Amino acid sequence: MPGGDMKTPLLADSDSDAPGPLPRLPGNPVVGIIGSGDYSRSLAIRLVASGFGVVVGSRNPQRIASGLFPEGVQLRSQREAVDGADRVVFAALYPEHYHTLAGLRDGLAGKVLVDVSNATRLNSGEPSHAERLAELFPQSRVVKGFNVISAWALQAGAHDGSRQVLICSDCCDSKAAVVQLVRRLGFSPVDLGGLAASRAIEEAPLHLFPPWGGPVLVTLLLFLFFYGYNFLRRVLLPYLDHGENNFYQLPLQTVNQTLPAVALVTLALVYLPGLVAAVLQLGRGTKYERFPGWLDRWLCRRKQLGLLSFLCAGAHAVYSMCLTLRRAAGYTLLNAAYRQVKAGVENSWVEQQVWRSDLYLSCGILGLGVLTLLAITSLPSVGNALNWREFTFVQSGLGYAALTLSIMHTLFFGWDFAFSSLAYPYFLPPVFLLALILPCIVLVGRVLLALPCLTFRLAKIRRGWESSRHRRCPRDQEPIEEAPPQNFGDV
Ligand code: NAP
Repeated sequence: MPGGDMKTPLLADSDSDAPGPLPRLPGNPVVGIIGSGDYSRSLAIRLVASGFGVVVGSRNPQRIASGLFPEGVQLRSQREAVDGADRVVFAALYPEHYHTLAGLRDGLAGKVLVDVSNATRLNSGEPSHAERLAELFPQSRVVKGFNVISAWALQAGAHDGSRQVLICSDCCDSKAAVVQLVRRLGFSPVDLGGLAASRAIEEAPLHLFPPWGGPVLVTLLLFLFFYGYNFLRRVLLPYLDHGENNFYQLPLQTVNQTLPAVALVTLALVYLPGLVAAVLQLGRGTKYERFPGWLDRWLCRRKQLGLLSFLCAGAHAVYSMCLTLRRAAGYTLLNAAYRQVKAGVENSWVEQQVWRSDLYLSCGILGLGVLTLLAITSLPSVGNALNWREFTFVQSGLGYAALTLSIMHTLFFGWDFAFSSLAYPYFLPPVFLLALILPCIVLVGRVLLALPCLTFRLAKIRRGWESSRHRRCPRDQEPIEEAPPQNFGDV
């Protein structure tokens, strides 16, 4: 910007020496924003688009480039912005600069001060920025909010990006005013209670897929284990033993033998914690005793494990379709055909092999289809449209159907060579046999739990019944009190 322009007021009435009164449209509340950075600008754009009057308070309003803020936004000093705002003032600056606003304490008294800042690190143990702001401005009503919405999302509007705005405050009236404002901007307010929740809200944007860490790690470890096992059994040992060069299998074939094993075991891990929880409840004879922490966490990660299983199964399907496109497949087929011609074999049709391949492919396709259905219903928008019974039917009923089909797919695949000694080179069983162990245990466990004697007892426990050793003995004719629920009703 040329130097001369700096002296020209951006707006006719924004001369800070003699500021005119703030123009306001009847019925349009004026919102103040302190700070003229990225967030302030995006917020101003959204507020103006939603019919609010906006006054931006800057340390130096003349320095703001013309056209940066939308038409109608008043660019003033910080004090004028605070005085000009009807009720709500946003603090759109970094928390380390909050103390520089101390001079505005009187002007901000009784006003709603919205803290939009984000935390810079997790679990710092320090008071939140909003709590510090409330200490600095004891006469203002501090509300935490908007920080989970980025400047970009604010400008894009509620049609794109995240819609939820997490809010908390110790003043219910002020929170209600901000909730209303959030709605008018087209977002969805989520009230998280008092200012004590502000630390969690500030840290929310710092989390990197929090529920995914454990499941991704487990899936990765399973992948490394099965890949390493395949590499050892089919590539390294044959090479060291008799110089057979199978290294070409590493990028595609070995990966494709690993993926279904990972998918199957991960799917079993989705249903195993439910069985463990049921066994614990049956053994304890009550549902009012807490599960161990690891089981609680495992139960909460079933959706992520299921989606990772779906990912591996989907990738396995694509890899399998590409197997015949490989050069190696072409050469192998040609060599086999040549050997057959040389041996004078005219018909290589083997009825048993035909059935085997058709059956395992069909079970695999059906299993993947059911898994896809499960993955779709785990989307919040789809899951929310189902009632509890429908959701349980899909996630549990269809889930076990997917597990059964996947087990059948694997069994049909290996039916003829699982019992041949050739399948155990170096005494190492094929990977699909290892992958079947856990899913079969889960399936058998589920069948056992379906026995009427266990099902009825479990249903009774989940409705609140307790075995006699958990009921308190009546002492001196005292009535028996019921233990308060502590944990999951249904698993
Ligand atoms: P920014 O572009 O750096 O703007 C900060 C503004 O603070 C400056 O433009 C400045 O405006 C003002 N300010 C007031 N006193 C100051 C001082 N003593 N020193 C320096 N600047 C001072 O930052 P921002 O991206 O708008 O972020 C502002 C707040 O919004 C932060 O707390 C951030 O955590 C939060 N936030 C930002 C986003 C985002 O996407 N950007 C998303 C969520 C939350 P004047 O020069 O006009 O006074």
